[in-house]
Amino acid sequence: MSNHEADEDVKRDICEIGRRVYAKGFVAANDGNISVRTGEDEVWITPTGVSKGEMTPDMLIKVNLEGEVLQGRLKPTSEIKMHMKVYEKRPDIRAVLHVHPPYATAFAIAGIPLNMATMPETVVHLGTIPLAEYATPSTVEVPKKIEGFVADHNGVLLENHGALTWGRDLRSAYYMMESLEFCAKINWIAKQMNGLRELPARQVAELVRIRERMGLRGETPAGVRSDSERNTGWTDGRAEPLPFTDGQLERIVGRITAAVLAELGQIDARKGDGIA
Ligand SMILES: [Zn+2]
Repeated sequence: MSNHEADEDVKRDICEIGRRVYAKGFVAANDGNISVRTGEDEVWITPTGVSKGEMTPDMLIKVNLEGEVLQGRLKPTSEIKMHMKVYEKRPDIRAVLHVHPPYATAFAIAGIPLNMATMPETVVHLGTIPLAEYATPSTVEVPKKIEGFVADHNGVLLENHGALTWGRDLRSAYYMMESLEFCAKINWIAKQMNGLRELPARQVAELVRIRERMGLRGETPAGVRSDSERNTGWTDGRAEPLPFTDGQLERIVGRITAAVLAELGQIDARKGDGIA
């Protein structure tokens, strides 16, 4: 494939992800920005002032890591520095996505990081999503505030602003954002029902081992160490303890984990490869 064809593919992919984030309500109007790194000093990025749901490939801009325009007629997003910081810190990362998904953004406004061990999938795939202190969008303060989180996480909440995810390709960065928003939404719904209960630390430790076997990296939630601690972090303390014995809970977590892994095709769960 020629460089030109590869560039055209990347531009089409960015437009497609733009349509998805807009259709899913992750952004309003012209919000959000997307970038893909295609070379040592080349990044395709979305323009400012254009709805991500209505982009065409000719609107995208190629910049170098300094943010200087190499190709394209529009002005790149004002959040370009935030994207470049991720690429600077993580040479393995090839795509960065910034949007304002409503539930995740509500957590960012409430000042609550997504660091609860509430679902096996969240522990295994998402890890913890920290909260980066507020900074005025487009200023050099934004990259400074996220810098410390890039090495050990898959994304970050931007206080009073939105969310940022990254991945080894655009699809991974997008799925990470979907998972992040899904986690925020479910945690919020659970909180309205009977409070938010985290998994016990020993179950989390088992999930962390699976995560390591899958070659996934980054910080994970800790879980809780005893029944009396089961409502920790972002909880109102009203919930009753889980209505399961430890043995039952272990089997439930084991079954869910096995199902997740079987779906991912990473490990053949039927062989009981150390799960549950
Ligand atoms: Zn934003």
